[in-house]
Amino acid sequence: MTTDTQGGTQLTKIDARSKRTQRRIAAQLATIDWALPGTITERMMRCGKKGCRCGQGPPHLHGPYLQWTRTVNGKTVTKLLTREQLDRYQPWLDNARQLRALTSELEALTTQTVTDAEGWGAKS
Ligand SMILES: [Zn+2]
Repeated sequence: MTTDTQGGTQLTKIDARSKRTQRRIAAQLATIDWALPGTITERMMRCGKKGCRCGQGPPHLHGPYLQWTRTVNGKTVTKLLTREQLDRYQPWLDNARQLRALTSELEALTTQTVTDAEGWGAKS
């Protein structure tokens, strides 16, 4: 990863503000230890058992259940978590969300930096 020392790249026009932003992003990235992908949704469910109140109208559904949803090789994978498991892994879910946000921010900043350096922003 390039740093403010420019890592041997030929970019010389990076302004101080962009450099500060890059250093701030790098510092925040360095605080992330684990990152668990996916999202948590609270769901009410039907059990499907014959005669259960969840199948009657008006239905009394079971739950709420905590469902962890993520994508694995393009497929949605879900797993039910206990409240205790969610409490334990919530920081890692938060880390993954922050990681995605920081990645997006760094990519946007770098794109802008390259655009400025090449003068692409002036025209087109
Ligand atoms: Zn039921």
